[in-house]
Amino acid sequence: MHGKLRPVGSRVPLPSTSPVSMPWEPLYEAEYCASGTDALALAIGLALVDRLVCGQPEIIIPAYGCPDLVAAIFCSGATPVLVDLHPDTPFMDAQRLREALTERTVAVIGVGLLGIPERLERLADICREHSLALIEDSAQCFPPRSADRPVADYVVISFGRGKPINLMGGGALLYRGSLTPEQQAFLQAQPLVTLRTGFAWHLKRHVFNLLMTRIGFQLLEKVPGLGLGSTRFHPHRAITRQRMPPELLFGGTRKYLARPSPHLLYEQTLQNIEDDGWVLLGSTRFEMGGLDASQPRLRFGLLAPHQALRDEAVQELNASGIGANGLYEVALAAVEGVSADVRKQGAPVAADFAARLLTLPCHEDVTAEDVKRAARVLASLTVNGD
Ligand SMILES: *Cc1c(COP(=O)(O)O)cnc(C)c1O
Repeated sequence: MHGKLRPVGSRVPLPSTSPVSMPWEPLYEAEYCASGTDALALAIGLALVDRLVCGQPEIIIPAYGCPDLVAAIFCSGATPVLVDLHPDTPFMDAQRLREALTERTVAVIGVGLLGIPERLERLADICREHSLALIEDSAQCFPPRSADRPVADYVVISFGRGKPINLMGGGALLYRGSLTPEQQAFLQAQPLVTLRTGFAWHLKRHVFNLLMTRIGFQLLEKVPGLGLGSTRFHPHRAITRQRMPPELLFGGTRKYLARPSPHLLYEQTLQNIEDDGWVLLGSTRFEMGGLDASQPRLRFGLLAPHQALRDEAVQELNASGIGANGLYEVALAAVEGVSADVRKQGAPVAADFAARLLTLPCHEDVTAEDVKRAARVLASLTVNGD
């Protein structure tokens, strides 16, 4: 076997001049940003402008997730409130969520993990009862869940490296075309840059795409000090809006919609290991809050029976050329670099989820042979273990 299958990420598309309508049109307007984190901070900022509270405003997020959520909240001057998960799912526990609400709560962020959207209708009910904004963080899901049912007030998209549509950066904030004059003023006050797809962009695209091949990724992993995939908190200083060439969005969306996704093959092939205590995330046998089985996944997720087996699986899969990993590895309260306020908000279910989550590559270069190989490795562990 030569090289190694990268854990996540699709090739950067070429711009295309033939127009594609974005899946959220005409329900949402889009404001493009420098990154998903910028779009998230913008959504939070708009929610804060719309609902003034006495004291420090609070934003609700799941206790397992991307540290950029915390960065975006601090960037907007609010405080993150972590809600523990419903067992064996990436969803927030609805009861815990209700308990976390205070008179300072401004918004709830429903985060889609690995391509599995949150149970937005349920969150929307709670938000409506308490006049809170609902933000769908769809950085890992495309199209967003709200694209055909406009449940969320704001939707966040990312065009970063490990996201469904990889444009080497960028993001979008979607809002339902009715901002207040104060919100309009806030939006317009954020700096605006322009992305150009000139020679330098094309050269960078070439290099990115080379590093995504099996040989390229294997070489990349050997470069010391890159810290590929390590989870760390990075503060986000300011919001930047970004003009994106429409051709880039057309090219990206068209390529994405035409791309095969191996997630259904994984589900069929891995079904047996559920008998050994593994949980397939998103399996048709598993209640995932109305997940559309055909929705492509960013990664294929499973929960190991316990952490030691997850860690062993990561090691063995990587040894056989498959870039499997534990995504963030730890819950938000344990991420290196987060503030003491976040650290003290421990959440046992999220910690257990973090310790057992295993993700398998689910991009366009995963072959049927890769899926079989992954299944063989996982089956051998389960038989040898215990
Ligand atoms: C990656 C990610 C973000 C941030 O997007 P960037 O474009 O990397 O800034 C936000 N939320 C989630 C769930 C993500 O996965």
